[in-house]
Amino acid sequence: MQNFPGVGVSPGRIIGTVRQMPKPISEPAAGEQRKADVSAEDATAELKAAATSVHDELKARAATATGDGKAVLEATALMAKDTMLLKNAAKLIGRGTSAQRAIWEAGASVSEMLHNLGGYMADRATDVLDVRARIVAELRGVAAPGIPASDVPFILVAEDLAPADTATLDPAKVLALITSGGGPQSHTAIIARSLGLPAVVAAAGVEGIADGSEVYVDGAAGTISLEPDTDQRSAAQAWASNASLLAVFDGRGVTADGHEVPLLANVGGGKDAAAAAELGAEGVGLFRTEFCFLERDTEPTVEEQAAAYKSVFDAFPGKKVVLRTLDAGADKPLPFLTDATEPNPALGVRGYRTDFTTPGVLDRQLQAIAQAEKDSDADVWVMAPMISTAEEAAHFAGMCTEAGITNPGVMVEVPSAALTAEAILREVNFASLGTNDLTQYAMAADRQLGPLANLNTPWQPAVLRLVGLTVEGSRAEGNTKPVGVCGEAAADPALAVVLTGLGVTTLSMTARSLAAVAAVLKTVTLAEAQELAKLALAAPNASQARSRVREKLPVLEELGL
Ligand code: PEP
Ligand code: MG
Repeated sequence: MQNFPGVGVSPGRIIGTVRQMPKPISEPAAGEQRKADVSAEDATAELKAAATSVHDELKARAATATGDGKAVLEATALMAKDTMLLKNAAKLIGRGTSAQRAIWEAGASVSEMLHNLGGYMADRATDVLDVRARIVAELRGVAAPGIPASDVPFILVAEDLAPADTATLDPAKVLALITSGGGPQSHTAIIARSLGLPAVVAAAGVEGIADGSEVYVDGAAGTISLEPDTDQRSAAQAWASNASLLAVFDGRGVTADGHEVPLLANVGGGKDAAAAAELGAEGVGLFRTEFCFLERDTEPTVEEQAAAYKSVFDAFPGKKVVLRTLDAGADKPLPFLTDATEPNPALGVRGYRTDFTTPGVLDRQLQAIAQAEKDSDADVWVMAPMISTAEEAAHFAGMCTEAGITNPGVMVEVPSAALTAEAILREVNFASLGTNDLTQYAMAADRQLGPLANLNTPWQPAVLRLVGLTVEGSRAEGNTKPVGVCGEAAADPALAVVLTGLGVTTLSMTARSLAAVAAVLKTVTLAEAQELAKLALAAPNASQARSRVREKLPVLEELGL
């Protein structure tokens, strides 16, 4: 039996067959000419046939898809029939260019034209680039890029997934996710947890697993095995019957001795929020507003923004909703705010910092939030991402006051903010620890890089200390303010216990993890959680911290978490 160790990021034990995500399509060489023995007519006909088959394939997939995925597939299918695209390519073929190069160049110019038109048209620019890659793949006779289509459920193996891949990832078809890249806080990890799919990241060598191979995946242990044995088959069966228990959250985060830790949801828009409310979330601890506008080239209007925000507020009348202002940059670029040519985007102008270079956008967002808040019954809290100093916190609080927002706060995700939490919390009403970025910055390890996954875990004692310091800062004399956690750490049931022991007041996570976190939290008293926090802080490294804490929580093994 061949094993591929990786990092488990979303629990679940499952057996299924592998489908590899095809590699991105490379650009045909500049100046590539049509072969001498192929006429312009034949090359054009071949191109049209390829475009038609891409269109038909996307249409067929759209017919069985739902929601955002359906819309994306339909828009892309339409582009494959675009007359301007095909005419421009035919012209280039007439001048001697190869069919692949011709569609590549025609795609680039149509995409640029749409981009320059702005608004709805600009949103179609990426569809053209997607369609040209699919047509080139068809001409080359290789698999189309993106998540493969399949009639039967499969285990997806990829290098890493991007936020945009979620739209076409059908959770009814994908059984589990395995990536060679990514880390515990990568987008693959976030997507997997939000869909409730078992996932292992940073598993070296998995790109070599042949399509159709049967594998066993343990998303808690972080292992993948080829040719599953009988023990693994029974483990997968046991998980399947346990999984229904973990799907139900009773709506209350509380320790065995009654210490309440409200369990909130991380959401990216109205649909997520409605689903989270359905799953019993006690409120929203992180509304990632940039997720509403990832496809946009232009700044959304105040009205558009207010409508998007209201749709989340309306899912939680009378409940707490913590909205985060746009966190554009690094792995979440927004073309109207961020500079794609920055040499080091994770350390660049991202999050709150975009107000330095593009003033006005944050003001308008705060206006939109205030407007949406007025029209809803939610208890709205507003925080800024990537705050590094007390001065920045004060500036943000001032902007909120000006917009009529009464409950300003900050994300603590830069180590300097954790170290100066007391001063920062004098300026704002609350803090929320973004352990994903806090870990990447404390460990100087890119959260998207597989080879750094062992550094990039919130189990690092250094990261836990920063969490502890932030809580201490919030408790300084006359200054007791709520400090929650909204990074992926909160969704790990064992870490959730440690964070509770460190004194955080709320835990916010993908709604699918609420039941598992609640089930484990209710097996410990607050004093036991505090002991476990001490144990983790004193461990010599992250893996010891994790294993020492897990040993003391037998419920994890019982539930397969
Ligand atoms: C974080 O950094 O922990 C966080 C919650 O924000 P994001 O993952 O959106 O960067
Ligand atoms: Mg962050």
